[in-house]
Amino acid sequence: MQLFDGKTLKGWKFVEPDRRWAIRDGSLVCRGPASTLLLVERPREVISRNFELEIEAMGRPEHRAEVHILSACQGSSSAKVVVANRSPVPDDPQTWLQAGSIIGRRHIYKKLIPDGTWFRLNIAVRGRHFEVRLNGVLLVDFLDHECGIPDLGDATIALHCAGDSEVLFRKIQAHSISDKSVGTSDSEQPDVVERKILHHTGQGIPIIDCHVHLKGDLDLDGAQRHSRRHGIQYGVAVNCGKGFPVETDEAALAFCRDLSAQPVFVAMQAEGREWTSMFSQATAAAFDYIFTDSMTWSDRSGRRMRLWIPDEVGAIANPDDFMETLIARTQDILQREPIDIYANPTFLPAVIADNYGQLWTEQRMQRIIETAARNQVAIEINELYQIPSAKFIRLAKAAGCKFTLGSNNTGSADLRRSEYGLRIIEHCELGPNDFFLPGVTYSRAIDRKPGVLLV
Ligand SMILES: [Zn+2]
Repeated sequence: MQLFDGKTLKGWKFVEPDRRWAIRDGSLVCRGPASTLLLVERPREVISRNFELEIEAMGRPEHRAEVHILSACQGSSSAKVVVANRSPVPDDPQTWLQAGSIIGRRHIYKKLIPDGTWFRLNIAVRGRHFEVRLNGVLLVDFLDHECGIPDLGDATIALHCAGDSEVLFRKIQAHSISDKSVGTSDSEQPDVVERKILHHTGQGIPIIDCHVHLKGDLDLDGAQRHSRRHGIQYGVAVNCGKGFPVETDEAALAFCRDLSAQPVFVAMQAEGREWTSMFSQATAAAFDYIFTDSMTWSDRSGRRMRLWIPDEVGAIANPDDFMETLIARTQDILQREPIDIYANPTFLPAVIADNYGQLWTEQRMQRIIETAARNQVAIEINELYQIPSAKFIRLAKAAGCKFTLGSNNTGSADLRRSEYGLRIIEHCELGPNDFFLPGVTYSRAIDRKPGVLLV
């Protein structure tokens, strides 16, 4: 059933006095400042407990528009879905949410639709269960235990806009759907981790796992289900470098192409030190961000070692000597290589890992932190190794460093829910602006450090 006839605003009412809405060439055009248009003549046979709203919209930069699903729940909106958002700016978490986000509940940070392009947004509501699709791609599958539409027929919708530019709607329609719930089950209560994720999301902290691998039994579908189920946005990374799955520009670009329409960030995990002479600037630019670690380097005698392989590390006769080389190599990487994130930070080989607390003295930590801050390289809070320590994070935060969450999983079983990162957020009192958002927090490292990669 059409809720907008393309000619009049029959059935709708302005909540604010300002008439910021117009009809132009069959489209409903809204302009800021803040204004809300409420559907007052709601077709009860359609918009009840189970319905799907379909909207075609087009956003221009510098504008924000939302669809509100209203019910008696808490006397306000059950769900505020972002239709269009102004261009994201650093230090303003409100601008980071992209189309398809449910504000405060499920945030989408990857921009999937370019400004000035028509797109289709479908919002399916089944009581407390919300699904949001953008051009047919399922972004949100969320069971809201706090709020929803518990009673038959008490829902309606509103369009809300704010900003200086325009959002256009050319189709607004709704239809009934069956109440068969898909995905999450009504009886499943969120556990303590899910409550934490929801809490931090509500605070505006971008819960993005920037270091997810499609490895072992984990494929993209499985990763997306996990992402939607737990409310964690993903950055999917491929290992690029000597002896790794991707060794050529062609293979790297094919990986980016495969993920281009997906609601995930696409990341290059640069491996070894050889990567800068294996990939071109243009290939690197196809990724949303690049990260590396300091786990592969050659010692002073020229022996190349991978720190996670005990046989290559061998015995460490003088741990202090080793730390000096590790710090020098790490500083060189952070300084020279065009990377956005330092992954697996402060990792030590197994043979000395038990002495992490003694070997990572404050003075040594500060040398890494100072170099990362000066080079605008974000620091990963790594789930696999549970590093760096809270002490390191506190010092890095004080130095103005930004952070990311990173699973570094090897399959589906160790794709956890950033439990270590969530603990760190609490212990170190990290807020939204302590986090790195790809393409927003800093300009990209490959643009700041041109001339390092192949032309
Ligand atoms: Zn990795």
